[in-house]
Amino acid sequence: MASGNNEQLDVVVVGAGFAGLYLLHRLRRLGLSAKLLESADDVGGTWYWNRYPGARCDIESIDYSYSFDPELEAEWRWSERYATQPEILRYLKHVADKHDLRRDILFKTRVAAAKWNGGTSSWTVSTQQGGEFRCRFYVMATGCLSQPKAPDINGHGRFLGRSYYTNRWPHEGVDFSGLRVAVIGTGSSAVQSIPIIAEQAAELTVFQRTPNFSRPARNGLVSAAKMAAYNSDRVAYREAARWSATGVPMSVSTLSALQVSDGERLAAYETAYASGDLLAFGAAYSDIIVNPAANKTVCDFLCGKIRGIVRDPETADALCPKDHFYGTKRPCIDTHYFETYNLPHVRLVDLCKEPLHSITECGIDTELRSFTFDAIVHATGFDAMTGAIVAVDIEGREGLSLKDKWAEGPLTYLGLSTVGFPNLFLITGPGSPSVLSNMAVSIEQHVDWVSNCIAHMRREGFDEIEATPAAESAWVQHVNDYADVTLFPRANSWYMGANVPGKPRVFLPYIGGVDRYRKACEEVVDRGYLGFTFKGARETRCNDGAIRRVQPDVAVLLETIEALKLPAVETLSVVAARALSGAMGAGRPPGPDVGEIIDGVLPGAAGELPYRLYRPKTPGRKPVVCYFHGGGWVLGAADSDDPFCRDLCVRTDAIVVSVGYRHAPEDRFPAAALDAFAAVKWIAAHAAGLGAEPAGRLAVCGWSAGGNLAAVACQLARGAGGPHIAGQVLVNPVTDWDLTHGSGVENAEGYLLTRALMQWFWDHYADVPDRADPRASPLRAKDLSGLPPALIVTSEFDPLRDQGAAYADALAAAGVASRHLPCRGHIHTSLVAVDVIISGEAARAEIAAALRGFLGTAPT
Ligand SMILES: Cc1cc2nc3c(=O)[nH]c(=O)nc-3n(C[C@H](O)[C@H](O)[C@H](O)COP(=O)(O)OP(=O)(O)OC[C@H]3O[C@@H](n4cnc5c(N)ncnc54)[C@H](O)[C@@H]3O)c2cc1C
Repeated sequence: MASGNNEQLDVVVVGAGFAGLYLLHRLRRLGLSAKLLESADDVGGTWYWNRYPGARCDIESIDYSYSFDPELEAEWRWSERYATQPEILRYLKHVADKHDLRRDILFKTRVAAAKWNGGTSSWTVSTQQGGEFRCRFYVMATGCLSQPKAPDINGHGRFLGRSYYTNRWPHEGVDFSGLRVAVIGTGSSAVQSIPIIAEQAAELTVFQRTPNFSRPARNGLVSAAKMAAYNSDRVAYREAARWSATGVPMSVSTLSALQVSDGERLAAYETAYASGDLLAFGAAYSDIIVNPAANKTVCDFLCGKIRGIVRDPETADALCPKDHFYGTKRPCIDTHYFETYNLPHVRLVDLCKEPLHSITECGIDTELRSFTFDAIVHATGFDAMTGAIVAVDIEGREGLSLKDKWAEGPLTYLGLSTVGFPNLFLITGPGSPSVLSNMAVSIEQHVDWVSNCIAHMRREGFDEIEATPAAESAWVQHVNDYADVTLFPRANSWYMGANVPGKPRVFLPYIGGVDRYRKACEEVVDRGYLGFTFKGARETRCNDGAIRRVQPDVAVLLETIEALKLPAVETLSVVAARALSGAMGAGRPPGPDVGEIIDGVLPGAAGELPYRLYRPKTPGRKPVVCYFHGGGWVLGAADSDDPFCRDLCVRTDAIVVSVGYRHAPEDRFPAAALDAFAAVKWIAAHAAGLGAEPAGRLAVCGWSAGGNLAAVACQLARGAGGPHIAGQVLVNPVTDWDLTHGSGVENAEGYLLTRALMQWFWDHYADVPDRADPRASPLRAKDLSGLPPALIVTSEFDPLRDQGAAYADALAAAGVASRHLPCRGHIHTSLVAVDVIISGEAARAEIAAALRGFLGTAPT
């Protein structure tokens, strides 16, 4: 009988890598009975299997190591900056021995299936070897990169020579001396092994499907500076790692790569290149991973380096990545990788030019040539992140199969748990930072969270834990929202599941960073295990809810502004408030280039008003969008929404005229409203003089108080019988003075525009009796019929959300062609924050499309 039969345990852990070993240690400390099942015959996980020549870590070993055991930290000395596989394996074996872990590990034991038994709140875990274990908790510590990708090359298995797989390398090693060797693949494992195989082989031919970015690792002894930083205060060092974006303590620039001079940028990249640090380019500027133009500066720099090393221009060109942005596929660091292609016995076959046809008995055929080899090395990677999990037949509540549940992509809450599978925990599962981080740090965080959760359940007398559907779907949304503000989804990478035929294209890890992720996990606990249901003999406790609802880039903006510790605007004098608002606008990205910008004046209701005109680059006379800036009738100017106006101009291909109306408190209601209407009339009458279509099409648009003025201008134009306004786009408009209910209360604080600030604006703008005047609160107009068609944009976390929505409804009820565009996860300032709030792009495109529709211009 196989071991384990009838055994009753608190926890079964699968996998004896970094994660499983630490988890077993933690569970034992809690006094729990636990067994660890591992298919290999020893500990090590990744570092047990991947024994190919040159295998080593690419996060510095000081960082890529456990922090839970101060004694271990003090006694272990890494011999190199990036330790080799044998050294890392030695380290993990040492940890297993030091903590006497092996006595609870069953080696050569592959878990085949796991089934939830609702009646007993337990899992039955079955092994390929015929063993069966009953446990309350079942933890998959099966690794993100442990399931080899199934071979997908024609003729696989036909080769009569020697075949090797980097992720299942023979323990006794391989001697390639005198052999003709092929390597298929150019990912991390290939980049590490190729230079070493080339040292031995008589001939080496590398078959490359897609090139990867790589640069010298500059391995050697750990630098004195790093050692000093680590040794001077290890506790603080590790804590800094835990609260960093990547799990490695380092500073990340807040500057855009496009904000600095070419010389400054080049110097920064040379420093990053010289550092040999995998993460250095991502940290050099804040927008490398979100802005294509910023990213291209890195791509160009690194391709320049490749061309500088590889002598044959055709080979160099083939080695330069062209199909993905830097970082969107895992970049590599290497030792003489590109130099290897200068050796006379090494050649590159570019499979983009001559696709691989099949493996044959004696070698490899491309569509153009036949090659003969003695040995073929497959460096073709993993079915990452989900492969090892769904390889086990996991059956949850009511017979639900995890594989089926994840057929369209993994669904998890925090990457730790998944609905329908009580008491199942995933270590570094999909939806957690995992492979985008120093995994030692991410593993420890997950292990700690899971152990603490189990301890909490024991204290509280609960037998079951399960994520709620609402919490899970909100987390999946959040993970996708984060990916969508970056360039990652554009690459055919294993992060996207794109390396495995038939695998759904879903961004698998969480890109928000180790620090933000940790904060979310801690908040979940602090808020009473938000998003989880606990069940016990005495009670069921469900604390439903979503941990992150704000768009990720909005959250970053809010954090950044909070860190500035600015005074609340409503506590300032008007002069100070204007100075602060001007200063806040000064450092923002400028927005796109337009053809021409002209500052001028036009006659308002009581004197001249400044305006700023934005003309598109395209030739010809254009229709006009008359724009009103935000700022609560108190702040702002004709140029204060400059990036948004540029964006509108480019997207609509219309002339945008931003009007600087009179401000309160110097000029109170109805000055701004009358100026807005006067400006619309003047612009309509003088369109030809502005270079627009003579007597042509005109639409109005405005944000916030400017949205209020655009709406009011439409009402006044209707009353006055003209001018004709083709349409109105109101972005987060003020349509009513009353903020005492709905979103006015719900979003009163925490999202930049507060209810108190809105009140301050109203106090400066209009006397109380005037506030119900439709020229101040357009929602209060008795009759809204006959107004121009409208797009009303609202943001979920805006105190003004409900009044914007109410205006859209009221317009529609009055027979106006009105559309409401609610923006999920956004705040009052999201949409005008061009190139800052990237998640606002889709709404900006819809705004422009609506304006184009009103103006009758075809989309570009
Ligand atoms: C070549 C290589 C280099 C890497 N370098 C780095 C680096 O520098 N920095 C970094 O942060 N990360 C790196 N990684 C990622 C690495 O996988 C993680 O850092 C870490 O080792 C994962 O530990 P783990 O315990 O989660 O999983 P693993 O180490 O993958 O261990 C999982 C274990 O589970 C076992 N298992 C899986 N399924 C079953 C089953 N059904 N039954 C029984 N046993 C099972 C496997 O045999 C394996 O031993 C690298 C990965 C590779 C492949």
